[in-house]
Amino acid sequence: MSLINVAVVGGGPAGLRAAEVAVLQGAKVTVFDAKPSVGRKFLVAGKGGMNITHEEPFECFVGRYRSGGDSAHAASPQTLARWSSLLDGFSPGELRNWARGLGVETFVASTGRVYPVELKSAQLLRRWVARLRAAGVDFRMRHRLQALRRAKGIELDFTLDGALRQVNADAVVLALGGGSWPQTGSAGDWVQALDTCGVPVSPLLPSNCGWEVAWPQDLLEQVEGKPLKNVSGSAGGETVRGELLVTRYGLEGGIVYALTGALREMQKPVLTLDFKPDSSEASLVARLGSARRHYLEEGGKRWRLGESAVWLLKRMRGTAPFASGAEAAQFVKSCPIPLLGPRPLSEAISTAGGVDWSALDEQLMLCCLPGVFVAGEMLDWEAPTGGYLIQGCFSTGTRAGGGAANYSTNLQK
Ligand SMILES: Cc1cc2nc3c(=O)[nH]c(=O)nc-3n(C[C@H](O)[C@H](O)[C@H](O)COP(=O)(O)OP(=O)(O)OC[C@H]3O[C@@H](n4cnc5c(N)ncnc54)[C@H](O)[C@@H]3O)c2cc1C
Repeated sequence: MSLINVAVVGGGPAGLRAAEVAVLQGAKVTVFDAKPSVGRKFLVAGKGGMNITHEEPFECFVGRYRSGGDSAHAASPQTLARWSSLLDGFSPGELRNWARGLGVETFVASTGRVYPVELKSAQLLRRWVARLRAAGVDFRMRHRLQALRRAKGIELDFTLDGALRQVNADAVVLALGGGSWPQTGSAGDWVQALDTCGVPVSPLLPSNCGWEVAWPQDLLEQVEGKPLKNVSGSAGGETVRGELLVTRYGLEGGIVYALTGALREMQKPVLTLDFKPDSSEASLVARLGSARRHYLEEGGKRWRLGESAVWLLKRMRGTAPFASGAEAAQFVKSCPIPLLGPRPLSEAISTAGGVDWSALDEQLMLCCLPGVFVAGEMLDWEAPTGGYLIQGCFSTGTRAGGGAANYSTNLQK
């Protein structure tokens, strides 16, 4: 009999949650991670105010998740059913209670985002790991998974300080993350190992990421590093309100993050900006009053556009003057910004693509590798920022950890 009942490989939120569920079900659990410590991306996520989940009606929450093959506009019935079941298994409310159980209260911001009161994740992670250790979870760091196979149980090949280490377990949860922010440990290097086992994996793509724009140099000198506040952006029939930051290479911010899916679907991606989302074209024309030329300069003052917005609008318009106030107002409400493409995966907040759902059963076990379960961002799903990512990791970790513990228990009978 293997010494380890459940080996969890990957100590991000998905893996730690899987370990927690499995140990509570009585399994002997060991967490392996390539890095010297667990939860590095969880800590990064906590730096700028971490949203751990979101408060909104269940149907809306479920509708935030997409998988490869879904259109950016709407999830397929299969995706909706899958996430309904996963979120039912560990809901946003249960996640908030879980944090409370660690002595960390949460609050709901006006946006619906749910934050720990301290806004950071360090305290949560420290207490969580201490509680897992106290429950008997063993941690083995600096173990990078290289390969796995079914043998006597599941055989795992790790490298530890350059040397090969083999480990056997009754059941395994893989929670190796996506491919963004590789400095936190999730380099996407597991794709090759699973490919060798015949597991179908969709290409890892950047999600919730910045987009590149060929800004003219003179424009950059005026607007680089400046935010465009209270604007809305549209792509592929979707519109999102928020902020954008003009960077040397393009655009960052909530609007382009949320529109990543829609932009990826466009052959020549174009973001259409509305600089006055609360005003109609007609009201903008009326506010121009007697102005008969220099409409953008006049509009800058009368519409309170802000300096960066006026610069950007002028440069996007080019040299052709506006024939009328109506034409200028229309441009302000619908200014196209051609995009070159997304920033690299390594810079993205999250990853789209991953292990195909067709390879998994209801418990998130790989059909071609019985006893091996998968959780977190390495699965083929994506969701917007705002707490949906962490929630998705907890819900899939709960399902996979429970499945692995049951699998191991059944082997002992
Ligand atoms: C800047 C930033 C801000 C974010 N903010 C938020 C937020 O506010 N709210 C939110 O919901 N989400 C946020 N996220 C996303 C969230 O952090 C991730 O979705 C989440 O951490 C993914 O969890 P995971 O457990 O699947 O993978 P990860 O957290 O990436 O963990 C994977 C683990 O596997 C280990 N590993 C990888 N490969 C191997 C291997 N071959 N062998 C052994 N170990 C390996 C890694 O070392 C790592 O510890 C943010 C992400 C970033 C980058």
